[in-house]
Amino acid sequence: MRPLCSRSVSRVLSVVSLLIFMLTACGMQGAQSEERGKLEVVATTSHLGDVVRQIAGDSVSLATLLGPGIDPHTYVATEGDLRTFQRADLIIAHGRDLEAQLARVLNQIGDRGSTMVIAVADRLDPAQLLSWEPERNMPFDPHVWNDVQLWKQVVILVRDALIAADAANTETYQRRSETYLAELEALDRELRTAVAQIPPERRIIVTAHDAFGYLGRAYGFEVEAVQGISTEAEASTADIQALTRLVIERRVPAIFVETTISPRTIEAVQAAVRAAGREVALGGELYSDALGELDSPTGTYVGMMRHNITTIVTALGG
Ligand SMILES: [Zn+2]
Repeated sequence: MRPLCSRSVSRVLSVVSLLIFMLTACGMQGAQSEERGKLEVVATTSHLGDVVRQIAGDSVSLATLLGPGIDPHTYVATEGDLRTFQRADLIIAHGRDLEAQLARVLNQIGDRGSTMVIAVADRLDPAQLLSWEPERNMPFDPHVWNDVQLWKQVVILVRDALIAADAANTETYQRRSETYLAELEALDRELRTAVAQIPPERRIIVTAHDAFGYLGRAYGFEVEAVQGISTEAEASTADIQALTRLVIERRVPAIFVETTISPRTIEAVQAAVRAAGREVALGGELYSDALGELDSPTGTYVGMMRHNITTIVTALGG
């Protein structure tokens, strides 16, 4: 069992303080966005922010909650975030327990009825999803963006939410989403071509937390992680030892650190492999649960996926 007590208490306290803030802030929402004319959209993750940007362009006013390097599994909303939520006409969340600490607040805002709240991954067909941690009441792996075909379904859900919230710009959302979906189809083919360069026996991704299950399923990798899928659980010494044995037995050439997770556990695996008289390289940094800086190549979903696959192909000897 992992010690969740203190975390649960702080979670309850943060929800209570957010509720108090919401009660006092209720009066000021709504009117501003009507004056400005543009739909006020909040996306929780940078992946979703990018989808909104690609589909809506300048037609909406967009705020993205979780910036580069921020771990959505453990993020707790600030009072500033609450003010951002209050101003929104439409909140697009990821769902499927990715933003575990935000779910209750977003549900409460959705229940009030004046802001449309959609959790996109909750609307994907469970039959297409990988299982996760049913014993913690989180049955499905939320990291769906790592399969471009699944992410295309999310793009369609975001498009439909934008149209439902802002019918006047329907033509723009439809036209831009068609272009973007074609771009994603080309990206999917590009990734498959790149992965084909890696010898089959080397197609194994070892990372800090289990964010790449869909990448493995879609593009033909075995995926092993030090930590369970959610970063809320701590990696154990036994986890590190098990992965060290696997790296040695399978002659894994490289293992990967992630942008939203401390490199500590992956470095511990590397050190343990070295202590056993073998070597494994650090293959570079993968963007796991957040995109890069907005004005950098990894600031878009397409750029991030390209970076990750290129990093993996290079490190595994493609
Ligand atoms: Zn994750």
